[in-house]
Amino acid sequence: MRPVQFNIHPKAPEIQSAITYTSAPDGLPGEGFFATQLNKVVGLARKNSLWPMPFATSCCGIEFMATMASHYDLARFGAERVGFSPRQCDLLMVLGTISKKMGPVLKEVYLQMAEPRWVMAIGACASSGGIFDTYSVLQGIDQIIPVDVYVPGCPPRPEAMIDGFMKIQELVGQEDLRRRNSDQYKELLNSYQIQ
Ligand code: SF4
Repeated sequence: MRPVQFNIHPKAPEIQSAITYTSAPDGLPGEGFFATQLNKVVGLARKNSLWPMPFATSCCGIEFMATMASHYDLARFGAERVGFSPRQCDLLMVLGTISKKMGPVLKEVYLQMAEPRWVMAIGACASSGGIFDTYSVLQGIDQIIPVDVYVPGCPPRPEAMIDGFMKIQELVGQEDLRRRNSDQYKELLNSYQIQ
């Protein structure tokens, strides 16, 4: 029987300052207190505790599995709690080809998520229909729901997904608490016939 070989070129791990801490927002430090803006504290908490909901329909979903697994490990960004109930999640990650028939289902999932919610279109298919320029495939999910970040690639590598996720974190961390009540946001939702 052929012997099973692995680690034929063992490599010592390069761990340099593996643990980092979230830096405090700008503010006024003092003896036993720290004063800052509510917006910044809420943003800091939200961006480091996003609960993703993967809506995976095809091959990009497999890449997402790699992103969640130990090597890339999205949990490092505080997003280890992947949920499959839209009511308990705040980040919709759409991965894969979305057919026109699937469109209303995706929209329903989005509508079931409570505000504030964010959306990532991951991969060429979710972003633009990808190579499937056909009568049955939705040419980008932004035709039915608003998208915050697009991740290009077919499929995008886990590094690209993580990069997109970090962009979402940036948006979340800087979002004004009043944005969801603003006329501009209502107008955006109205353009998708969402009340
Ligand atoms: S973008 Fe490419 S890898 Fe991703 S679902 Fe479409 S065909 Fe598959």
